[in-house]
Amino acid sequence: MKHKVLLVLFCIISIPLIEIQAQSVNEFFRIIKMGSNSFIIGNNTTGILIDAGSHNKFHKFKSALEKLKKSPDWIKYIIITHTHYDHVANLAEIKQLTGAQIIIHKDEARYIESGYTCLPDGMNTIGRTGRWFVDFFNIDKTKIKPVQPDIRINSSLDMSFTGLDLEIVPTPGHSNGSISVIWNDTIAFCGDAAFAIIGFDVWPITGKDPQYILNSWKVLLNLGCKIYYPGHGKRFTDERLQKSLDKHIDKHSSQ
Ligand SMILES: [Zn+2]
Ligand SMILES: [Zn+2]
Repeated sequence: MKHKVLLVLFCIISIPLIEIQAQSVNEFFRIIKMGSNSFIIGNNTTGILIDAGSHNKFHKFKSALEKLKKSPDWIKYIIITHTHYDHVANLAEIKQLTGAQIIIHKDEARYIESGYTCLPDGMNTIGRTGRWFVDFFNIDKTKIKPVQPDIRINSSLDMSFTGLDLEIVPTPGHSNGSISVIWNDTIAFCGDAAFAIIGFDVWPITGKDPQYILNSWKVLLNLGCKIYYPGHGKRFTDERLQKSLDKHIDKHSSQ
């Protein structure tokens, strides 16, 4: 009898712990190198893809699904951080394979609908040199297969309806309709709002509006994001973003 009472007590105490543990153990994410960083965030029933990579990288997405032992229809949503070609070139094929709903900021929708993406301007010496090179040699990668988006957003979107703790927040500056995806309140998949490719500074080498980029960085820091996964380069911390912010606030206020 004593043992039975102890067993019941153990079960009652354990249930919430097991649920919490199961929730965190079942959620995961993977990075897919597709010319830029794409990400899959998922649990047992639902997968979310963030960005669709550069030209001719569709096979990388398929092989990521195979490694995860997931069928294509496990992917329920594709979130596009912005529509530069290196983030959307395989979007039509991935949409066709998975049947997933495409979520995009309304200011970016026309680029995937028309199949013509735009090239960003350089924001520092490397970016400006790269842009000059592309223009001079007429390297046109901006054409993609057109695809219709399913959900256009104009502000933040709580995506907890997916069963995953995700929120989309607008982070303009690299492009007008750039967005970031925040997972579990602490991890930000920030697209090209920041680059982590050279040195400590995460200033994007290309973009549209420096002041908007600085404001977007403040938004992410104020939301409490600690770890950042950019579209280019490796993950970095909030400390690194704060230091870059301090540097560029000084730099851009003195220009
Ligand atoms: Zn970009
Ligand atoms: Zn990019």
